[in-house]
Amino acid sequence: MCGIVGYIGKRDALPILINGLKRLEYRGYDSSGVVVLDEKTNVYVKRAVGKVAELEKSINGSDWLRPGLGIAHTRWATHGEPSERNAHPHADTDNNFWVVHNGIIENYKELKDELISEGVDFRSDTDTEVLAHLIAKYYNGQPSSPGRFFDAVKKTLQRVRGTYGIAVVSKFEPDKIIAARNSSPLLIGIGDGEHMVASDASAIIHLTKSVIYLDDHEIAEIRRDGFRIETLDGNSTTRKPSLLEWDAAKIEKLGHDHFMHKEIFEIPEVIENSIRGRLILDEGRAKLGGIEDAKDTLRKIERIIIAGCGTANVAGRVTEYMLEEYAGIPTEVDAASEFRYRKPVFTKNNLLLAISQSGETADTLAAIKEAKEKGISTMGIVNAVGSSIARDTDFGIYNHAGPEISVASTKAFVSQLVVAALFTIFMGRQREMSLTMGKRIGEQLKELPNLVKKVLAQENIIIEIAKKYKDMPAILTLGRKYNAPLATEAAIKFREICYVPAIDLPAGEMKHGTIALIDEKFPSLVIAPQDSVYEKIQSNIEQISARRGPIIAITTEGNEEIKKFAQDVIYIPKTLEMLTPILAVVPIYLLTYHIARLKGHEIDKPRNLAKSVTVE
Ligand code: GLU
Repeated sequence: MCGIVGYIGKRDALPILINGLKRLEYRGYDSSGVVVLDEKTNVYVKRAVGKVAELEKSINGSDWLRPGLGIAHTRWATHGEPSERNAHPHADTDNNFWVVHNGIIENYKELKDELISEGVDFRSDTDTEVLAHLIAKYYNGQPSSPGRFFDAVKKTLQRVRGTYGIAVVSKFEPDKIIAARNSSPLLIGIGDGEHMVASDASAIIHLTKSVIYLDDHEIAEIRRDGFRIETLDGNSTTRKPSLLEWDAAKIEKLGHDHFMHKEIFEIPEVIENSIRGRLILDEGRAKLGGIEDAKDTLRKIERIIIAGCGTANVAGRVTEYMLEEYAGIPTEVDAASEFRYRKPVFTKNNLLLAISQSGETADTLAAIKEAKEKGISTMGIVNAVGSSIARDTDFGIYNHAGPEISVASTKAFVSQLVVAALFTIFMGRQREMSLTMGKRIGEQLKELPNLVKKVLAQENIIIEIAKKYKDMPAILTLGRKYNAPLATEAAIKFREICYVPAIDLPAGEMKHGTIALIDEKFPSLVIAPQDSVYEKIQSNIEQISARRGPIIAITTEGNEEIKKFAQDVIYIPKTLEMLTPILAVVPIYLLTYHIARLKGHEIDKPRNLAKSVTVE
C-alpha cells in the first residue's frame, strides 16, 4: 500500500534510492528500508522505523557499498506492527533473495505453515516474508539456467493469492531486478544505461520521463541495458513506453488536485481491500483474522458500547443500527470524550468497541483504558496497524484502507462501514442470522465497488449543484435510520472543509424546533434513499418544501417523484438498506469537496485541524 523504488545502472544506487523514498513520503508510511548489492555478492541492508530521515541517519557514517543495484521500500504495515524487524526488505534464510512488497498476501498463513513444516524459521510477522522463502525454495529446486531467478519468482507468484507490487534482487544474479504486479501499481523507468522500478512515478520522474506501466499478472526482468515482460502464464508482452507529462506534485495526487479528491476516487478499491479474503460467501460467513481467536468471548457478548470521535463516531452510529438489526445485540455509541468522564455502567459480557482511523485518538485511547479498568473486553476497528489502539485493545479488525492523507476522512470512513458490516455478519452468524441472510449481505457487499463507481460518474452533476449552493449561509442535513448518522457526517464535512455552519438532525427531530429556521434562503440536504423509512422522510421533505426551503436530495435511482419537492437530486443505485450509507456518503463527499474548492479553501489541510487528534 506504500512505496517501492529500485535502481539498476551505472550510478551509485543508494543515494538514488533514498531520494526516491523521500519523493514517496507524501503517501504516508510507518517505516522504511533499503538493500543494495554488488557483483561480488556483498549485501548492504538497512531498515528503520519512522521517517526516511531515520533510515538515512542510520546509513550516514557507515561504510556502505556503492554498487549500481538496489531496491527500497516505505511500509504501511498490514501484517505485523511497524518495527525494524517487520520493515522491508525481507530475505530468505540464507539472505540470498531480497524482496520489497506493497499489498497483502491473502494466503500467507497456509504458505507460512507449509514453509515452517519444511524447517524455515521466520524472522518477521509480515505476510511478505513468505515470498522470499518461496523464491529461495523454487530457485534451489531448479537446474541452473539463465532464467532461473526469474522463473523462481514466477513460480512463487503462481502460488500466491492477494495483491502485490514487488521488486526482488538476488545475490546469485546481481545484474537484474525482478518486478511484478497484481492490483498494486508498478512501473519501469527507462534511462540511458540504467533502469528503475517504482510504485509511482514521483519516485523517478527526476531521472526519466519514459516509463512502462506493468499490468496485473505481469512480471518483468529489468537489467541495466534492457528489460523483458511476461505474463505469469508465460506469454511475453511488449508495449511502447509512455511519456510522463505531469509534474511531481500532480503525480503524487495521481492527477487529482487534492488528496481528498484522490481518496474519494479510491473508495471502490478500498472497499475491495477491506473485504478481500474476509468473506466465505457459500457459508454466509465472515472470516476476520484479528478476532478469530476471540470467537468464544464474542459469542457471549450481550451488549456493545462503541466509542469513537468525529467521523469514527458517525461510523459507530451506523454500526449500532447494523448490529442491533442483524445480530440482535444491544448496542450504544458514545463520544469517546464523554465516555471517559461520565460513569458508564457495565454489566456482564459487555464489549467496548473502539473505532479510529489513526489508532492514536487520545479520547478513544482513554475510553479503552477506562473499560479495561472495569474488566471489560475491548476491541478495535483501526486503520493504522500497530497503532496504540491496535495494541491496547484485546483484539480487533484492521480496515486495510491504506494511508489517508487528507485531514477530512473519506475512504477510511467507508472502510469502517465495510468492516462494521463484516463484523455484523460475524456476530450475527454466531447468533440468529440465517445462512441466506449472511450470504445476501456478503453478495451485496461485493457489489458495492461497482455501485460506488456509478455514483462517482455523476461528479459533473454534483459540481453544478455545488456552484448553486456555494454561498449559502448555513445548511440543515437530515436522514433517518441508517442514514441519520450520515446527516452528521455531511454536517462535519460542511463545517470542516466548507466552513459552512451545518446542523444535522435525524429528520424526525426537525419539527421539534429547528424547522423554525427554514425559509427560501436556508437549504437542506436530505438523504432519502427508498428504504423502509422513505415515506417518513418524504413527509419531512414536504414540510421543508411547504416552507419554501431549497432541497438537495440524495435518493434511489428511478425516484422521479421527489423532483416535485427537491430542486436538486442526486441518485444512488439500489442496495441493501444497511449498506446505503456507503453509497450515499459518496455524493456528500463530492458535494462538500467541490463547494470547498469553489470557495478556494485549503482542502487537504483545513484551518485549525490536524489529521490525528492526539490531545484531549
Ligand atoms: N503486507 C506487507 C506488510 O505488512 C506490505 C505492506 C505495504 O504495502 O507497505 O509488511
